[in-house]
Amino acid sequence: LTKFIESTYVTEMRKITSHLYEHGWDERNGGNVSLRLTEDEVKDFEDVHEVKRNIPIDFDAVELKGTYFLVTGTGRYFKNVYDFPERDTGLVKIAADGKSADLLWGFNDGGQPTSEFPAHLMTHIKRLGIDPSQRVVMHCHPTNLVAMTFTVPLVEKTLSRILWKMQAESIVVFPEGIGIIPYMTPGTNDIGEATAEKMADYRLVVWPHHGIFGTGDSIDEAFGLIETAEKAAMIYTTIQSQGGKFLAEITDKDLENLAKRFSIHPNPDFLTG
Ligand code: 13P
Ligand code: ZN
Repeated sequence: LTKFIESTYVTEMRKITSHLYEHGWDERNGGNVSLRLTEDEVKDFEDVHEVKRNIPIDFDAVELKGTYFLVTGTGRYFKNVYDFPERDTGLVKIAADGKSADLLWGFNDGGQPTSEFPAHLMTHIKRLGIDPSQRVVMHCHPTNLVAMTFTVPLVEKTLSRILWKMQAESIVVFPEGIGIIPYMTPGTNDIGEATAEKMADYRLVVWPHHGIFGTGDSIDEAFGLIETAEKAAMIYTTIQSQGGKFLAEITDKDLENLAKRFSIHPNPDFLTG
């Protein structure tokens, strides 16, 4: 029998929170990650079978009853998760009534899931309806993307096309483009609902003047989406700092050729200006 702290899930969570911190995308307690796990994946660990506490959820997540999530704690610093995974993350199982979660492991100093847990759960529900292998919701504060929400119109087509045209990879990695919600108060069910609604069409949703939500069937996939969009935003920012004058560009025809070469089906509404 193995302890849960030795699982690949905790190892992955420790590593990704460190990466996110090192990129400067999760200052202080910024950011949160949740990883969906199944009964089969957790059942063989020796220390996850006793309910340590029941934690209320301010949202009815009954659609996810019985589902396990390894999730980062509210107020926890990503720079610390690597050294204190059993304090700063927790394994919870959504209770039968959907309105609370049973804590099975972690949060060992009395901690709780992220304040964005309702937004994560709503996003998991929405993405699971589209992709049964949906696993991860990742929220962070990538600097250049956040900066662009002050200087670029908050229009999905506009932002998506700029990001697509900053590097050849963008359209291949997020062919559907990038979703945007209005500025809203974080940690609320309203922002969760608005985010989840966008997740019907996008795997990346920008929170203006705040950060981004990314999803995927693995930690690598969710992180890869975010880092590709943020890299494009960094190139855009660098261009602006070099005077903002373009002498060349990735054209609409180039986008079309990328789609053909990589057999992807980009959002048709965004393919031409
Ligand atoms: P938590 O510390 O509750 O996870 O909140 C961080 C954050 O980024 C809120 O949007
Ligand atoms: Zn945030």
